Amino acid sequence: MQFIDLASQYQQLKEQINKRIKVVLNHGKYIMGPEVHEFEERVADYVGVKHTISCANGTDALQLAMMVLDIKEGDAVFCPTFTFFASAEVIAFFKATPVFVDVDEQTFNICPKNLEKQIEQVISCGKLIPKAIIAVDLFGLPANFPEINRIAEKFQLKTIEDAAQGFGGEIKGRRAGSFSDIATTSFFPAKPLGCYGDGGAIFTNNDEYAELLRSLRVHGKGLDKYDNIRIGMNSRLDTIQAAILLEKLAVFSQELQARNNAADTYTALLNENVIAPIIPQGYISSWAQYTVTTNTRDELLVKLKDKEIPAVVYYEKCMHQQSAFSELNYYEWNFPVAEKLAKQVISLPMHPYLKKSDIEEIANIIRQ
Ligand SMILES: *Cc1c(COP(=O)(O)O)cnc(C)c1O
Repeated sequence: MQFIDLASQYQQLKEQINKRIKVVLNHGKYIMGPEVHEFEERVADYVGVKHTISCANGTDALQLAMMVLDIKEGDAVFCPTFTFFASAEVIAFFKATPVFVDVDEQTFNICPKNLEKQIEQVISCGKLIPKAIIAVDLFGLPANFPEINRIAEKFQLKTIEDAAQGFGGEIKGRRAGSFSDIATTSFFPAKPLGCYGDGGAIFTNNDEYAELLRSLRVHGKGLDKYDNIRIGMNSRLDTIQAAILLEKLAVFSQELQARNNAADTYTALLNENVIAPIIPQGYISSWAQYTVTTNTRDELLVKLKDKEIPAVVYYEKCMHQQSAFSELNYYEWNFPVAEKLAKQVISLPMHPYLKKSDIEEIANIIRQ
């Protein structure tokens, strides 16, 4: 059994993907070839935004977003403490200060109440300028953007949706990647929509941001590529990866349905033994992970390992517990929910090609 079975997916899509790759090999436009533009258009339609700017990976997408919003030293950027390192790393990379926020116990996503408290604390402290909120769609479930956007408006902050895991998720019929000023995603192979290497994208409805991003991803180019009008970076999606993504996007809705079926099966079989993930009314998860909580997590990990069931802990360490951020303790950290989750979460195998018998086998072990 695989934690995320990319080989099974390739077996299903082999013919189309091989054909698409061959087209690229024949035309030879490996950088910013026609597939890149075709994919950007298709994915913008899928997400429901005006612009998609593809780039080299999800971390670069976040960095480019920071550059567009001119995040710099002296700025405070709020982000959940229970997330993947990159969400917070990019803030510090631009010498701004990540201000961590506790998460909601049921959704694992940034807690709006705590967010408001942290913003007020930064304002009353008077040392940093509150600039932006990075909210993460953790494990595939969109963050509570109706509340986050209300708070952002109240305090005049910009919003960034880190949809690296959330691609395909929805809130009331609107898709992940469309909830904020700028949204980012990753096409790392194990993400809901993955390519066969690194890849990423930025989504926005803002024309000015889009134009700036298209310049920033190619060394700050002007109208001509050897006319550089600002400092940028080299961050493009390879044409071959775009070709692969076009074929994967074509079956993505079907795969999403399969992930949701797998999640429903898990939840029905597990519910009494562990705390199954909770999806709020009106929300759809893309199930980047199926993550349960239990206070006997470490025992369960050993048992699953004995039976050769791959299970992973995302995340054992919160951002405020990372050594890289040890200098940031400008006031007493206090994130009881995130710290508890870090001790209790366990992610089970989840992908569109997971068999019902595999889920039953895993559920049996957990029930024992
Ligand atoms: C994977 C991930 C990223 C980074 O994406 P890469 O493509 O690996 O750079 C950022 N944020 C979150 C929440 C992620 O899960």
